[in-house]
Amino acid sequence: MKFHSTNHRTENVPFSDVLLQGLASDGGLFMPDRIPHLSRKFLRDLHRKTFQQIAYEVSRLYITDIPQAKLKMIIRDAFNFPVPLHRIDDSISVLELFHGPTFAFKDFGARFMARLMGYYLGKQKETLNIIVATSGDTGSAVARGFYGVPHIKVFVLYPRGRVTPIQERQMATLGGNITAIAVQGSFDDCQKLAKAALADPALRKKVLMSSANSINFGRLLPQSFYYLYAYAQFAKRYGTEQAVDMAFCVPSGNFGNLTAGILAQRMGMPVKQFIAATNINDVVPRFLHGAPFVSRVSRKTISNAMDVGNPSNFARLLELFHGKRSVMARTIAGMRVSDADTRSTIARTYREMGYIIDPHTAVGITAACLAKKGTKVIVAGTAHPAKFREVVEPVIKKRVPLPSRLRALARKRPHAIPLPNDLAALRAVILKKNNA
Ligand SMILES: *Cc1c(COP(=O)(O)O)cnc(C)c1O
Repeated sequence: MKFHSTNHRTENVPFSDVLLQGLASDGGLFMPDRIPHLSRKFLRDLHRKTFQQIAYEVSRLYITDIPQAKLKMIIRDAFNFPVPLHRIDDSISVLELFHGPTFAFKDFGARFMARLMGYYLGKQKETLNIIVATSGDTGSAVARGFYGVPHIKVFVLYPRGRVTPIQERQMATLGGNITAIAVQGSFDDCQKLAKAALADPALRKKVLMSSANSINFGRLLPQSFYYLYAYAQFAKRYGTEQAVDMAFCVPSGNFGNLTAGILAQRMGMPVKQFIAATNINDVVPRFLHGAPFVSRVSRKTISNAMDVGNPSNFARLLELFHGKRSVMARTIAGMRVSDADTRSTIARTYREMGYIIDPHTAVGITAACLAKKGTKVIVAGTAHPAKFREVVEPVIKKRVPLPSRLRALARKRPHAIPLPNDLAALRAVILKKNNA
């Protein structure tokens, strides 16, 4: 399988380079030259397959240069936690993607990518510097996913004061090959800085770098596995006909998760409808409703992992829909949800179902409730409520039970390097850590 850039000036790239480079040299995002189709037999038997079996059979369509036994081992090791589909009521189920080590769905991408990179780098014996911008969850998943992986140093850039205390501790208490950097600015500033560092000639001359944001296709691919898995669980519960007519609702920020869902659909998953749920950072829902696509400065909300004003995966979505808004809008319904509505959904879901949800999942559930009557919806449950207890507890007026791993973390002190929003300062940190 070969890959090209969405800017079309880089072509014929093998998967290992896609993974290790992250961003194409022409500044575009990597996409597979064709999306492989899953066999009819595979789709028919899907409900009998484990998550790991689905992961393996999908991966090997894209990754052809890792021995089968090795790839199976990587998958078993990366996806060692459950992915339950929790029924809330007749129409809404939540796909709980938050049972990994950092309690958010980004563990899927980060753990898979880290192990694949470790495999390829083990052959080259070079040190790779992962530069990653985060609004909170990516950074913790990537830091944990890569912690202790040989030949890799990670630099996590997060907006100072705009991540939760738990998120900050998940990034800034590991040490070792993980450097946490608290940037004076917004998530978009962090993302711009990370992109600038990755493209910086002075740095590129001295160190090998890559990204781990959702711009890396190696992170996107494993996110497609759980759509297929959820579809199959749903079909088992409600029958195939209902499954085809249901919709996936995806709380979105950089739109990596949603893009992975579209990828699963193009591989053959017969689900027709997706809902892109955002908070007030709604450039994509606006676009889907007819406005031009204009990136904006992100605004702060209670679903902070989705405070993104310039979603990086939009270029991929455009390519998947041949640049046609009308075609995209037939598959994806865009919905914007306010903080007030997010809070009332958290309160109502707890009051009526006894189910505690985090603010990102709540954005999804709010949007799902607005879907066409009669449509069943699977909402991507993107984070564990304990990760956002500062928001959730005052709303439900009750403590969120903390998983024991989070309790231990709460006692640790974070150590991050404070940084102005400035490339030269970042460059200096990276060079120093590389003794270059
Ligand atoms: C990252 C994140 C999102 C947004 O996912 P994208 O792939 O960036 O659209 C939603 N919820 C949570 C909890 C996240 O961490």
